Amino acid sequence: MSSSTKKNLEAIEKALECSASRLLPVSKTFPVSRIMEAYEAGYRDFGENRVQEIIEKKAQMPEDIRWHLIGQLQTNKVKYVADFIFLIHSVDSEKLLAEIEKQASKHERQISVLLQVHIAEEETKSGWDAGELRSWLAAGGPSRFPHVLFKGLMGMATNTDDMELVRGEFRGLANLKKEFSENQEYPNFKMEELSMGMSSDFQVAMEEGSTMVRMGSAIFGGR
Ligand SMILES: *Cc1c(COP(=O)(O)O)cnc(C)c1O
Repeated sequence: MSSSTKKNLEAIEKALECSASRLLPVSKTFPVSRIMEAYEAGYRDFGENRVQEIIEKKAQMPEDIRWHLIGQLQTNKVKYVADFIFLIHSVDSEKLLAEIEKQASKHERQISVLLQVHIAEEETKSGWDAGELRSWLAAGGPSRFPHVLFKGLMGMATNTDDMELVRGEFRGLANLKKEFSENQEYPNFKMEELSMGMSSDFQVAMEEGSTMVRMGSAIFGGR
């Protein structure tokens, strides 16, 4: 085993100690042999951003891995992951929800998702606006998707060195999650998870209440 992977994991766990944040190793672009180093260190959850890559890796890796999709998902690819995906972090539209509902129903299961909220300054990053989500919720959104389990929110902060800007964006997302978690109206709408923070900003995300930090390069090195 590459001792650097193990050392990196230990250092991150130490930084997350005494917080509510758990580490989700992001294995995109890294080969199975490297991911197995984290598996052997006890990790069972891995995040990938491409459907094709998840499917290829899944076929070569132990069956007890819980695969998380963290990247933008095209509607026509949902069918390839619908029978096994553990959590989709990046649900950014009602159209995508409709397809997830259809495929989950076909497989007679509920698919867990996070709603991706647009918190960054960059327009290129996708996600719902907070206001849009509020209206969707008030209009009974979750009840239209009985095979979808809404487990929380996900966000990506602006890519910047300005950590106060990043903190403000994460805080806004945490407040939205808190607001939504007071809604008890829908049995399939339970705002428990807050997926925020990557290698460059996980410390701030942790301080702002992240429950899942998605980290790749800090564990496996540069891509
Ligand atoms: C790649 C990726 C990450 C992890 O990024 P690192 O900088 O390697 O930690 C987190 N979230 C998403 C959505 C990603 O695509």
